[in-house]
Amino acid sequence: MRTNEPTPVAAIDSAPATADHRHFDGVDLEKLAQRIPTPFHAYSATAIRQRIGELQSALDGLDATICFAVKANPNLAILQLMANAGVGADIVSIGELRRALHAGIPADRIVFSGVGKSADEIAGALSVGIARFNVESLDELHTLQRLAQARQVIARAAVRINPDVDARTHAKISTGKSENKFGVSIEEARRWFAERKQLSHVQLNGLHVHIGSQILSLEPFRLALQRVAAFWRELVQAGHSITSIDVGGGLGVCYRAGTDRPVAAADYVGVIRTALAGYHGRLLLEPGRYLVAEAGVLLTRVVRIKTGIERQFLVLDAAMNDLLRPSLYDAWHDIVPVSDAARPTTRYDIVGPVCETGDTFARDRELPECASGDLLLIKGTGAYGTSMASTYNSRPLAAEVLLQDGRYAVVRRRQHFEEMIAGEQPARNWETA
Ligand SMILES: *Cc1c(COP(=O)(O)O)cnc(C)c1O
Repeated sequence: MRTNEPTPVAAIDSAPATADHRHFDGVDLEKLAQRIPTPFHAYSATAIRQRIGELQSALDGLDATICFAVKANPNLAILQLMANAGVGADIVSIGELRRALHAGIPADRIVFSGVGKSADEIAGALSVGIARFNVESLDELHTLQRLAQARQVIARAAVRINPDVDARTHAKISTGKSENKFGVSIEEARRWFAERKQLSHVQLNGLHVHIGSQILSLEPFRLALQRVAAFWRELVQAGHSITSIDVGGGLGVCYRAGTDRPVAAADYVGVIRTALAGYHGRLLLEPGRYLVAEAGVLLTRVVRIKTGIERQFLVLDAAMNDLLRPSLYDAWHDIVPVSDAARPTTRYDIVGPVCETGDTFARDRELPECASGDLLLIKGTGAYGTSMASTYNSRPLAAEVLLQDGRYAVVRRRQHFEEMIAGEQPARNWETA
C-alpha cells in the first residue's frame, strides 16, 4: 500500500461527491462556461499551491530551491503564483527568461538549460545575472567563457550529465540515454573539471541531471542520482568544490485515473536524500508537470456527434492546436462530462475539428452518451497544454482562467483574429539579400 501519494485534485474540490466534475476549486464550471466561450483552459491555484507545498515540506531541512520548468506552463499568472510561493524558474530560452523576470522571479532563482542556447540568449542571461547555466556541450562552455569574459562577469555553471539511464517513459520525452541529444558523458565532464582552471570567467562548480518526463517510478531517479553522486564524490576527492547539484524534473502525474500511480514527493525526496547523503551544498529541483498538470482542465463543448461506418465520433470544439499531447505522444487524458446526469454509456472516438486524422483526443473511449452542446472536461492539461498550443487551422489561442476558492480570473483572453495575423503583410517591398 502506497502512502502519501500526491493529493488528487478532486480532494481539494469543495463540491459534493455527486457532482465532482461540475466544480473545480469551488467554481461551477457549467456557469463558468456560460460566461467564457469554449474551448478554454482552467487552472486551480489551490491545487498548484498544494503541490508546491507538498514538495517544499518534503525538502524541509535541505538548502533546496524549486525552479519551475517554465516550458510546462509559461502563463504570467502561473509564474507570479510561483514567484509568490518562493519558487524559481528553469528556463530554456530568452523568451522564458523574460517571462520569469516579468513575473517577479528573481534572477538568482533562475537556471538556464538546453542544448541550443544562442550567443544572444547567453549574453542576455549573463546581463541579468541568472543563478546558473546548465551547460550541455563543450562548444557551449567555450561560448559561455568568451561571452562572460567580454562582459567582465563570472558565469556560474553546472555540467549537465547524461547518465545513460532509461527513464522508462515515452521516447520523445526521454532525455537521459546516451543516444539523446542532452548533456555530456561523465568521461567528458571529468575532462571539463580537469581543465577548468583555463576558464577565467566561468565558475564550473555544479552538476545537473534531467533524465526525462512523466516518470512514474523511483528507480530511474535512483539510478541517475547514484551515478551523479558517485561522480560528485570523485570530484570532491580530486579537490573540486561542488556547490550546487540540480536533480532536474520529470516527476510523473496521473493522466489516467486508476492506472497511473505517481511517485509521492516525500518518497522522491527520500531518494535524493539517500543518494546525496553527505552533500551540503545547494540543491536545485526543476519540476514542471508535477506542479501544474493535474491543476489544469480543458473545457470544451460537443459540436456534434457523427455516426461513421465503423465508429461514432464525438466532435469537440477543442482540437490538437489547444492540446497537442494526444496527437504528439499518443498521450492519454481522462475525459469526462461536466454534468453528472445518469445515462447509459457508449463508445466514441473523441476528435477535434482540425483537418487531419492526428486531431484525435481518444479512440474507442467509453463515455456517458453525449449530445451536441454538452460540456466536457479534458483533464490533466495544466502542463504542456497551452505551452504547446498553436494557431493551426487559423484557430485562435484559447483563453486561460485561474480559479481559486469559488472565484475566477481570466489570465489570458482568447486571441483576437487581428492578433493572429498581426505580423503578416503582403509581399510588397521586394529586396535583394
Ligand atoms: C522539461 C524539463 C524539465 C521539466 O520536466 P517535467 O517533466 O515537466 O518535470 C526540467 N528540466 C529540464 C532541463 C527540462 O528540459
